[in-house]
Amino acid sequence: MRQRNKPWAKEKLHEYKDIVISEPENQKGNWHEIFNNNNPIYIEVGTGKGQFISQMAKKNPDGNFIGIELSASVIVTALDKVLETEVENVRLLNVNAEKLTDYFSESEISRVFLNFSDPWPKNRHEKRRLMYSDFLSVYETILKPEGEVHFKTDNQALFEYSIYSFSNYGMIIKNVSLDLHKSDFENNVMTEYEEKFSEKGNRIYRCEAQFRN
Ligand code: SAM
Repeated sequence: MRQRNKPWAKEKLHEYKDIVISEPENQKGNWHEIFNNNNPIYIEVGTGKGQFISQMAKKNPDGNFIGIELSASVIVTALDKVLETEVENVRLLNVNAEKLTDYFSESEISRVFLNFSDPWPKNRHEKRRLMYSDFLSVYETILKPEGEVHFKTDNQALFEYSIYSFSNYGMIIKNVSLDLHKSDFENNVMTEYEEKFSEKGNRIYRCEAQFRN
């Protein structure tokens, strides 16, 4: 995501430390304490400007949602969305998803969402794709047994790579849609990228991939 650098972003994130958790490693295994309930915890990796995570939280008050985003200049907009939406069941982490096992213990997470992940089209950048096998291993560790990754994109090549990577890892691929907005999938929550690319006429691909026990 190309984004203007916002030098003040880190300071603002720090001001809202009830929402943007600054030392997530201290919370490992105890995220339910932060949410003050035992509801399932869902994470979105590469949450961007936060529309999906805040709308999902609003529509699903019985779930807890955590947005993971590398860029402070981007996640600061997600913070504004969370504040605007007035949802209490969202937290944000300004961290690299590579390190998720430092922040969550085994089986602590109920689902991983990947939405419009950066495609990194060059072969030499394959390891940066959020569905590369090293990332899948991280998700498998923190997800409950038979946990699922739900993935959407408008990028056909990335979608094909993802199906390859999920199945190569031994995951079960389910509910594949090659044109989500023309399918009978209900309760779709749009992301910023999804709005932008579907307005241009791009079709949206979606699938679910489940780890085997
Ligand atoms: N999900 C949003 C949407 O659909 O509108 C944003 C999509 S944007 C193309 C991808 C986002 O993933 C960027 O904001 C980028 O900073 C973030 N990202 C990429 N690699 C990441 C990583 N390893 N850890 C955390 N965030 C990452």
